[in-house]
Amino acid sequence: MIIRSFLPYVVASALLAVGCQVNETPPSTDDLSHRGTLLVRGVSIVDPATGRASDPVDISIGGEKILAIAPAGTMLFEPDAAVLDARGRYVIAGLIDVHAHIGDGGIGVQTDADRARALAQFLRYGVTTIFVPGGGGGNDDHLAAWKNRCRPVTEPCPQLFGSGALITAPGSHPISTIWEMPDDVDAATLYARGAVTVEHVEEIGPLLDQKQAAGLGAIKIVIEDWMGEVPRLSNELIRHLVEAAHERDMRVLAHISTAQHAGDAVRAGVDGLMHSAEDSIADELFAAMAAQGTYYVPTLALYDGFFDRAEGQTAPEPYAVAGASPRALASLESFGVSPFTAEQARETRLVLLDNLRRAAAAGVPLAVGSDVNNPSVFPGYSTHEELELMVEAGLTPAQVLSAATLGGAAFLVQEHELGRIAAGSVADLLILDHNPLEAIEHSRTIYAVIHRGQQVEGVISASTQP
Ligand SMILES: [Zn+2]
Repeated sequence: MIIRSFLPYVVASALLAVGCQVNETPPSTDDLSHRGTLLVRGVSIVDPATGRASDPVDISIGGEKILAIAPAGTMLFEPDAAVLDARGRYVIAGLIDVHAHIGDGGIGVQTDADRARALAQFLRYGVTTIFVPGGGGGNDDHLAAWKNRCRPVTEPCPQLFGSGALITAPGSHPISTIWEMPDDVDAATLYARGAVTVEHVEEIGPLLDQKQAAGLGAIKIVIEDWMGEVPRLSNELIRHLVEAAHERDMRVLAHISTAQHAGDAVRAGVDGLMHSAEDSIADELFAAMAAQGTYYVPTLALYDGFFDRAEGQTAPEPYAVAGASPRALASLESFGVSPFTAEQARETRLVLLDNLRRAAAAGVPLAVGSDVNNPSVFPGYSTHEELELMVEAGLTPAQVLSAATLGGAAFLVQEHELGRIAAGSVADLLILDHNPLEAIEHSRTIYAVIHRGQQVEGVISASTQP
C-alpha cells in the first residue's frame, strides 16, 4: 500500500528553513521521528487558521499518528521506513464531512456492498472522517456494525461518528414526507429505516440512556413541519431533549429548513443546525449562535443537486463521475424530480448563500456537511462541491478549509487528535498538487491521501500534473 521507492536518507544539515512554523529542535538519537514507519517528504503544510502555507517540511508518521514535523531534509528516520516524496506539494488535514449518510448518492435499494464501496469512495476523495446523522438505514445498530467492520486500519473506511437513529415526532418528517409511511407505522419498521419517535417527555430519558450505552456522542432531532403540513417536535420536547442530552454529555444536532425552526432550535440550546434555512435568518439569531457556539452546517451540496435538476442540468460533472458507483449513476438517469421550479431554485440559492455569508461574518462556528446519499450527492466528491459552494457564498478558501478540518473536529469534540497537522494527531492527510488557499478547486488536485497512517489506494484527482 505504501510507496517504497526512495532510499532512506540521513541528513544532518543545519536548520536553515526560515519562518517555518514547525518543530525546530535538531534531530537527536532519541527523537521519536526515528520510529516513524512512513515519512512524507518536502511538503508545505497549509494552515487554514493563519491562511498560510509553511516552508517545506518532512512529516514522520508512526502507526496511526503523526510523530514529528521538521524542516525538510533534517529528519532522521528508520532505514526501512517508507518515503512518500511530496516535494513541491501541499498538505491539509483529511477532510471531515459532518453530514454524510452511508450510501452511494443514487436512488433505489442499495446493498451492503454498495455501502462498503461508498465508504471507500470517501477516502479516495480525501474525506477521512464522517458523521452519519441517522435516517437512510443508519440506526444505532447499523452504525455500530459499520464501526466494527471499519475498525481494522486496513479496511477502506473513513473514521465514523454518528447519532444513530434520528429522533422525530410521530407522523413528522421524514416518516410521512419523504418516506411516505402511514401514521400507524410500527416502531420496529421505523427503527429499521433509521428513526425513532418521541411523543411524551417521559420517553426521553430511557431513549437517551440507550443511545449513551451504545456509545453515541450525539443525537439528531428533526424540527420540520413541511410548511405546516405535518406535525413536528414541540418546543417543550426539544427543550427536554437538549437538557437530557447535555446531562449525558451528548451533543444535539437539529435538522431545520426554516428560520422559525432555526430560532426554536437555538433558543432550546442545540449544539448545531443541520441544513440551511430556505428563508432568511436574522442577524440577531446568528449573533446568538456565535455567542452560544452553535454550529451551522449548511449542506449546500444537498440543495445544489435539486437546483441543478430544476434548471435542467442533470449530468454529473466529470470529477463526480470519475469516482461515483456505476449503480448510482445508472439509477439517477430515471430521476427527474426537483421540489423547486427553476425560478425558485435561483432565488433559494441566493438566500442560502446569503445566510451562510452572514453566519460567517457573525462568527458562527462552521462545519462542512454535504448530506451524502441524497440524489446526486456522492460520497467524497460532494464534500469538495460543498467547499466550492461555501466559497461562492463569499467565504475565503482558508475559512472553508478551516470549517472542513478544525471546524469538523471541534464539532465532533475530537479537536485533540483530528483536523490538524501536528505531532500527536491522527495521521489523516490530504496531499495536493496545488495550493488550495489560492483556489478552493485545488482541493481536487489530489496527489495522495493518508488515513490513520496508511496510504489510500486509487485516489481520485482532477489534475494530472503537479
Ligand atoms: Zn441528511
